[in-house]
Amino acid sequence: MVIGAGVGGLVSALLLARQGIEVVVLERAPKVGGKMRQVDVAGRAIDAGPTVMTMRWVLEEIFSAAGTSLHAELTLRRAEILARHAWGEGPTLDLYANLDRSVEAISTFAGRAEGEGYRRFCAYTQRIYDTVQKPFLCSERPSLTSAMAAVGSLGIQGMLDIDGHRTLWKALGEFFQDARLRQLFGRYATYCGSSPFLAPATLNVIAQVERDGVYLVEGGMYRVAEALARVAERHGVTIRCGEHVTELVVASSRVAGVRLASGERLEADLVVHNGDPAALFQGMLGAQGKRALPAPAERSLSAVTWAFVAEARGAYPLTRHNVFFSKDYHEEFRDLISRGTLPREPTVYVCAQDRDDGDHAHPGPERFLCLVNAPARGDQRALTTSEIKQCETAAFSLLERAGLVFPPFAAPPVVTTPSEFDRMFPATGGALYGPASHGWRSPFVRAASRTKIPGLYLAGGAAHPGAGVPMAALSGRLCAKAVIEDLASTSRSRETVMRGGI
Ligand SMILES: Cc1cc2nc3c(=O)[nH]c(=O)nc-3n(C[C@H](O)[C@H](O)[C@H](O)COP(=O)(O)OP(=O)(O)OC[C@H]3O[C@@H](n4cnc5c(N)ncnc54)[C@H](O)[C@@H]3O)c2cc1C
Repeated sequence: MVIGAGVGGLVSALLLARQGIEVVVLERAPKVGGKMRQVDVAGRAIDAGPTVMTMRWVLEEIFSAAGTSLHAELTLRRAEILARHAWGEGPTLDLYANLDRSVEAISTFAGRAEGEGYRRFCAYTQRIYDTVQKPFLCSERPSLTSAMAAVGSLGIQGMLDIDGHRTLWKALGEFFQDARLRQLFGRYATYCGSSPFLAPATLNVIAQVERDGVYLVEGGMYRVAEALARVAERHGVTIRCGEHVTELVVASSRVAGVRLASGERLEADLVVHNGDPAALFQGMLGAQGKRALPAPAERSLSAVTWAFVAEARGAYPLTRHNVFFSKDYHEEFRDLISRGTLPREPTVYVCAQDRDDGDHAHPGPERFLCLVNAPARGDQRALTTSEIKQCETAAFSLLERAGLVFPPFAAPPVVTTPSEFDRMFPATGGALYGPASHGWRSPFVRAASRTKIPGLYLAGGAAHPGAGVPMAALSGRLCAKAVIEDLASTSRSRETVMRGGI
């Protein structure tokens, strides 16, 4: 039984079904995908969740383990321009998949020394990636002790390479003197809902992940959720949408099934929870579920998003992924983290979903998603209409200063706030990436695949190894692996056939 049809839930379901296990996925929303979702604006479907696809190899490996291929299920194209970055009315800076092109662009933008700083930065982030990929991303969550042993076995160089003891912001100072470049690379911390001023420098690895490839999915990101669900169903997984699980049933100290909001009780030997693990701790799945996990750590950030259809005007040369930076990043994060408010001047991400990574003008109205970071307090206090309006005015004024102007929308935009995210993803307060990655211990306090209740497992972006589509998928795979290992070690299921690796 899998609770939740987010990426992690779907991946664990399809890999378990592939091993011959009967799997039912119970999803409270009307559609699969979780945070990977689309909204309808003026009759057009807009991706209102993830828009940046990276770590292609993860989907390749998962589809291949499911007996198909990424190529057979989806069409992906590698973007040449990773993103375009703007600071007010000043010049823009593109980052490219090609290192030399980026060095050239940075040199023109900020001087030769900064370009060379970027080259050194890339070598540094590559070292972090090489050091953490296998022992961390692709392995069960290490305990603090096992991690120390593993890192110890890498030697002093390995420990230096992962750079866990200083903040991401501080490390950036070693490579970039230009404040704009520190801001650009500092923003990668927000990819897991964290502050660059608190996240460990290890998270600089995200810059490497993006440089390894940003992919455009033909038909939009939601195709990924559809493909995972399709392959899962092909392997016999039953997906029931519109089914809210209200209780985890535990008998003789192990999982025995779940109860639905309708009152129906379903028996199950194994349950994978793909919702936020905090829901268990908060008792949203009944009193028994509370003892599955320790108290969750500090929440990651939420967001306010605007999905809309409009004609873009002005001189700004839109590409697919665009970032418009605030003037004062310290102040933006003081608002978000210390004051717990919407930033007075937010950094704004704009995804122009009808454009590719070239500079092709788009005639007529096109689809957009705008996103600003927000504190994850949606379960404590709903933002007022005037707070959201103020934020919207600040965000769209920032775009205008950079030359991107939108006329009044013909159809109302779909605005999603932390309270709305909290309603869709229970126990999160709107946090989109599970616990924040703040401090060097943060990787070791994320929930692992196994819980304290035998038969109950976790998969998803709030669990190890972390948030984001590929990481949630890796979590689903680690979860399926843990289930299979545990089944194989019990006499009851010795007959379980391992059909190839997970
Ligand atoms: C606006 C936004 C932008 C993002 N941008 C990116 C990006 O560009 N690139 C990227 O890689 N990632 C991005 N992310 C993050 C990424 O979308 C998530 O990390 C990932 O999709 C989470 O997958 P998951 O497996 O944790 O499941 P989730 O998406 O969290 O889904 C969990 C599912 O469980 C269901 N559920 C929960 N409780 C119950 C219950 N009791 N009963 C039944 N069902 C239940 C929920 O309805 C939900 O469908 C973004 C997220 C958002 C919201």
